[in-house]
Amino acid sequence: MSGETGMKEKLGRNVFKEAREPHIRIRAGMENSPVLKKAVAICPAELYRENADGSVGLSLDGCLECGSCLIACDGDALEWAYPEGGAGVQYRFG
Ligand code: SF4
Repeated sequence: MSGETGMKEKLGRNVFKEAREPHIRIRAGMENSPVLKKAVAICPAELYRENADGSVGLSLDGCLECGSCLIACDGDALEWAYPEGGAGVQYRFG
């Protein structure tokens, strides 16, 4: 089993409960900020995407709540909070 396959299988065991409100938002007007390119590169769940026009979009399905994007962007481009109680990722190990 390769390392990548093993990681995808492990992530596939997690359970996600959708929150009523998005817990991470790109700040208005920051969609074209160069700092968001770092989030595209480092998000382990690959939730950020660079659009054809150079702007960055975000889909929160499968967010691991790891905080890597917030650290990478220094908080300048993102509004970041944990999901409301009971929502978000539930890790399944083993
Ligand atoms: S918190 Fe982690 S998994 Fe969620 S969007 Fe940011 S980098 Fe991706």
